[in-house]
Amino acid sequence: MTDTDVARARALTLGCGEVVHLNNAGAALPPAPVTDTVVAHLRAEAMRGGYEAADEAAPRAEAVYRSIAALIGAEPEDISITDSATRAWQSVFYSIPFAPGDRILTCKADYASNAVALLQTARRTGAEIEVVGDDASGQLDVADLRRRIDGRVRLISLTHVPTQGGLVNPAEEVGAIAEEAGIPFLLDACQSAGQLDLDVTRLRCDALSATGRKYLRGPRGTGFLYTHPRLRAKLEPTMLDLRSATWTAPDSYQVHEDGRRFENWERNLAAVLGLGAAVDHALSWGLPAIEERVSGLAAGLRTELAAIPGVTVHDQGVRRCGIVTFSLAGTPSARLRRLLGSENINTSLSRRESAQHDFTARDLPEMVRASVHYYNTEDELGRLVDAVARSSRRRAG
Ligand SMILES: *Cc1c(COP(=O)(O)O)cnc(C)c1O
Repeated sequence: MTDTDVARARALTLGCGEVVHLNNAGAALPPAPVTDTVVAHLRAEAMRGGYEAADEAAPRAEAVYRSIAALIGAEPEDISITDSATRAWQSVFYSIPFAPGDRILTCKADYASNAVALLQTARRTGAEIEVVGDDASGQLDVADLRRRIDGRVRLISLTHVPTQGGLVNPAEEVGAIAEEAGIPFLLDACQSAGQLDLDVTRLRCDALSATGRKYLRGPRGTGFLYTHPRLRAKLEPTMLDLRSATWTAPDSYQVHEDGRRFENWERNLAAVLGLGAAVDHALSWGLPAIEERVSGLAAGLRTELAAIPGVTVHDQGVRRCGIVTFSLAGTPSARLRRLLGSENINTSLSRRESAQHDFTARDLPEMVRASVHYYNTEDELGRLVDAVARSSRRRAG
């Protein structure tokens, strides 16, 4: 992206005039077209009625599926729109009929909500969870994964980009192994959607979940699911309603073959339309351009932070993205984050409870997470670095 592009992106982002927003992995600042779309639909509902506004918006609601499909190289019928990434992930995971002795392979980077669901399912069904190791770079060890494949593996679950670091896991290599073995591959792309160029054909995943509010810059309370037709053909959702299935006769129903089978009838249509606007906005910049800008800014930030006495940057992996995690010796991360907040710099905290496998394996402290987006500037990152350097000097002095 050129300087002119960045200036235009900032002009379209109201919040850029208010804060230095480095919490894009929590919820990014939405661009004006997203907020305008949401507000316009809420107003239409207030003026004409919710169902009537939905009828008027029906073609635009359909277009949201096409936009999401274009984002990840899928077909519109492969997309389900949900109210969160977790709901999307769960609707696939909980529909898989696990039996005692079945093996579920997951990764060190796994996210708390997924991990808790795995634990509950293991307790209920007798399936076993195995955490695939990391290689020396800190990404999932593809050789270890390959060694673990056998006829009892029922699912490979991978977190593409963890909530707690700049790592990008080798999802395409995992997809190739899963496809060769005929094992369903469920990819949590919550932190990668909107900052990396995702293509489900290249990823070879059977399912992919993502959220709207993070790097996609969409409204809160939105998410989506991609499912490969081969997975949908095998998997009846655990929970059905009159959107996911049709009540065809008093004693029969038919589950929809397309992505609707994982949706609920009731939804926040204003948010769904806003999600579509967010995806279109990302596509208008182009995901390769976004990735280049975001990973470049983050790499520069890591270098500058690492040069400050007492600072440790914790990000790992061969390929890295826009999430930067660090700590300052002698200063609790919660205190450092509050201090940054008092200077109008938004960051977040990464805690053990969101990623037990990784925190335990690396014995990580609580970390400050600064997640950058393409609309951030080197100036803004300089303000973060300055504030951390001042804390470092105060600690020393
Ligand atoms: C945020 C996050 C989720 C959950 O997304 P929701 O939309 O809050 O459900 C899942 N996985 C990862 C890696 C995340 O960072």
